Amino acid sequence: MSVRVVARIRPLLEKELDKDVIVRADAVEEGRPMTVVKIPNPKNESEEFSFAFNSVYEQTTTQEELFTAEVAPHIKALFQGLDVTIFAYGVTGTGKTHTMRGGLRLAERGVIPRLLSNVYRRGKKIGKDTNGETTVNVALSYYEIYNDKVFDLLEPPEKRTPSGLPLREKDGKTIVVGLSERSCEDLKDFERLYIEANNNRVTASTKLNAHSSRSHAILRVKVTQTTGDMVRESTASAIDLAGSEDNRRTENGKQRLIESAAINKSLFVLSQCIDAISRGDRRIPYRESKMTRILSLGQNNGITIMILNLAPMRSYHLDTLSSLNVSSRAKRI
Ligand code: ADP
Ligand code: MG
Repeated sequence: MSVRVVARIRPLLEKELDKDVIVRADAVEEGRPMTVVKIPNPKNESEEFSFAFNSVYEQTTTQEELFTAEVAPHIKALFQGLDVTIFAYGVTGTGKTHTMRGGLRLAERGVIPRLLSNVYRRGKKIGKDTNGETTVNVALSYYEIYNDKVFDLLEPPEKRTPSGLPLREKDGKTIVVGLSERSCEDLKDFERLYIEANNNRVTASTKLNAHSSRSHAILRVKVTQTTGDMVRESTASAIDLAGSEDNRRTENGKQRLIESAAINKSLFVLSQCIDAISRGDRRIPYRESKMTRILSLGQNNGITIMILNLAPMRSYHLDTLSSLNVSSRAKRI
């Protein structure tokens, strides 16, 4: 079981170019790779806090560079049967969706379309190399967790029940009862489904007077390799987490407070799990929240990558600091 915690600082957007930048990447010493995030102490700006990561990606990092460095190296392991789980963590507006989904242009594509593209390419190659003896099937599930309830994103919002989908234990695993799974032939097939599902997500949250930044979106890619009667199955999960900002500071409507409580709890449990995995603990508190329970986080021989997204501006100062503080291994040094 291994875990990597990395940070990605996004660039200023066109309309932000006049903003004060206070977050920067640094190296432990000159000539070494960037592994430290520096940010001023809000109470005494002449002092700077440092947080250590496995890697820190600067404003100029492209989608391709991030994917190549953090995700591509694990695709082989995925096909060897290991599970790969990738989280985007951070305050709303820091680049989580950009990192995971990205834009439509090829260069702007995020982790998810690149992952799928790589999986299909490797699947094809395996078929060819084995003269069709091994077949590779890719099946998707996509759901969101909002207020601790699970909703299927592959189904239209009208089909949702207010209580969401129930969980059940089966062979020591937690399954979401009734969650749909669709086989996707190729990248085009996947993209059609993914766009439709993301539209479902927006429609559903609009109906609830919520915002998609308040739910966790979890994409599960199941890779099944079949050779005769031998079957090998593994899962890649990509999670665009709910915003980690403290909504109690800015909004205090009842609905917002319920949302915040659910988000805070699940993000807290998540960071506890990441901590436990990185310490090599035997006991990982994954049962304490729905998301980590469904993901069986840390229960298999897999790889977990946590990407902490950061916006560099002063307006995010306090939220950035608290996300740095809780994002597990990102310990202040
Ligand atoms: P979040 O999902 O965390 O709320 P978004 O992914 O929506 O944040 O990003 C906020 C804005 O910043 C969007 O307009 C997005 O396109 C832009 N953005 C985020 N990261 C980058 C990046 N690395 N390069 C260019 N634009 C980015
Ligand atoms: Mg987002």
